[in-house]
Amino acid sequence: MLGKQKILAGRKAVHRYRTAHTKLHDKGWHKGISEEHTPLLKAMVNALEGLGFISAETDFEPKKTEVLAKFWVANDALIDNQLIETYDRVGECNDCGKCCLQCEYYDVGLFHNCKIYENRPEVCRNYPTIKQLLSGTVPTECSYKLVKKDPKSPEVELWR
Ligand code: SF4
Ligand code: SF4
Repeated sequence: MLGKQKILAGRKAVHRYRTAHTKLHDKGWHKGISEEHTPLLKAMVNALEGLGFISAETDFEPKKTEVLAKFWVANDALIDNQLIETYDRVGECNDCGKCCLQCEYYDVGLFHNCKIYENRPEVCRNYPTIKQLLSGTVPTECSYKLVKKDPKSPEVELWR
């Protein structure tokens, strides 16, 4: 995986593109907007390639797709490592069922349980992950919490 500094620099390139893209579209649709957009994309892809997110493709579209895919894989891997280094997930499931309410396998009748509990998917066995807890998408009734390994360490940014 490319180093942290390269990934952080890659985020800046993506951010510059997003900002310029928003500005361009703030002007509303106008003739030539797609021609103006292309250099913004190219600047981002060139910057990412310069940082090491490279592609052997020569056509721009497949190059852009590969370069961006490499950047996002590295970015997400960095975040996953930072989450593991920074936080512990503590607590036990209180069987509140809030994470299952929308699921077809949740028995909303008398038993309030999972009809496929022994064979429930991995995503259910691991719920909530550290990333889910940090993202604020976990129901407030959930008894799992995040605790920092070192209280002085900064929060991890879920950069996307
Ligand atoms: S399959 Fe997963 S989400 Fe669905 S009821 Fe079972 S544990 Fe809950
Ligand atoms: S929301 Fe949390 S505490 Fe409630 S059932 Fe799901 S994992 Fe267990």
